Amino acid sequence: MNLRLNRIEDSVLEKAFEGDAALARYRPWFEELRKAKPYQLEDRVEELFHDKSTTGFSAWNRLYDETLAALTLDVDGETLSLEATLHRLSDRDAKTRETAFHAISKVLTDNARLLTHITNVLAKDKEISDRWRGYGDIADSRHLANSVEREVVDALQSAVREAYPRLSHRYYKMKAKWFGQEKLNAWDRNAPLPTSDDRVFDWETAKTTVLDAYGQFSPKLAELAMPFFDGGWIDAPTGKGKLSGAFAHPTVPSAHPYLMLNYMGRARDVMTLAHELGHGVHQRLAAAQGPLLANTPLTLAETASVFGEMLTFRSILDKTTDNKQRFALLSSKVEDMLNTVVRQIAFYTFEREVHLARRKGELRTEEINALWMDVQRESLGDAIEFNEGYDVFWSLHSALHPLTVLRLCLCVW
Ligand SMILES: [Zn+2]
Repeated sequence: MNLRLNRIEDSVLEKAFEGDAALARYRPWFEELRKAKPYQLEDRVEELFHDKSTTGFSAWNRLYDETLAALTLDVDGETLSLEATLHRLSDRDAKTRETAFHAISKVLTDNARLLTHITNVLAKDKEISDRWRGYGDIADSRHLANSVEREVVDALQSAVREAYPRLSHRYYKMKAKWFGQEKLNAWDRNAPLPTSDDRVFDWETAKTTVLDAYGQFSPKLAELAMPFFDGGWIDAPTGKGKLSGAFAHPTVPSAHPYLMLNYMGRARDVMTLAHELGHGVHQRLAAAQGPLLANTPLTLAETASVFGEMLTFRSILDKTTDNKQRFALLSSKVEDMLNTVVRQIAFYTFEREVHLARRKGELRTEEINALWMDVQRESLGDAIEFNEGYDVFWSLHSALHPLTVLRLCLCVW
């Protein structure tokens, strides 16, 4: 339908808007749709692209996802999934982290030929589509989907890269010192700090903390958030077979949103609740716009959630009087932000390099490893020891889902 709507001449559409106020209300929706118009191809070609996607990039993405999901790792005699092993990289015990690191490195190295091939195919697939559609820059199709201009993203990328030395480089230098080391091993980068905050917030406390924080900003905000708790709109506990992570789903505008969490009572979980509730409140407010206009690009959607999260963080910090706990809260916030902004820009830079290099020909694993290491050194600085085996870690992120990581970073910025 979108393709057909875009076939309508501008002048015809303009006239229709003028004559019909009800239709004119949807002008922003049409405008968004028509941004893709210059890159739209003849119907038959679009049809072919669509049909071929099943055996093209969708199939390769699936192969990647299924390959990673099916990996089994030997971790000190134990057989674990990749997900479970990655989790151990933030374990309290240094030996556990190190063992996990080596297991991950080994399994990725064992699968490097396949993962390199998938990356090459996907980057080439994107190049073919971009060339046919006439996109100038490799990230342009992504910018279009995010409703953001290339100049904005370029400015963001260079601002963050310039700030690496005084953000990430400086932070990891301090973190190494807190661990009594000159340099942090690669497996210690996300290690919990020796002083980390182990308080447990029960669900009632989490609820009042978030509602108070929202209410202090605006009583209306707390009022909008209230039914999520009272109406059973939140699925909070962890459970067997439940997907990890958290999200807010708007369902349909005539109903109400639902939140899915894996609440375990850590300070971070309270922040996640606040984050998803931010989405939820936004989704409630946007519902009145109707199904077509209630949708927002991810860049905008994350604004409400990050805002709610920060309100709550501030409020928890204000209520925390113990200096050690304050230090723990602040440092884990800094680390989260580095993982969001610095790490995502580093991924973006890496993905760009891979796509650009692929245009000149098929890439060997060693070439991708080298691109990865350049970006890692630039973004993390020399307080990190890039231990042997770290160079294949790109395949955990890779250039496979082209440039998606950018969205989170944009809203935090
Ligand atoms: Zn979010």
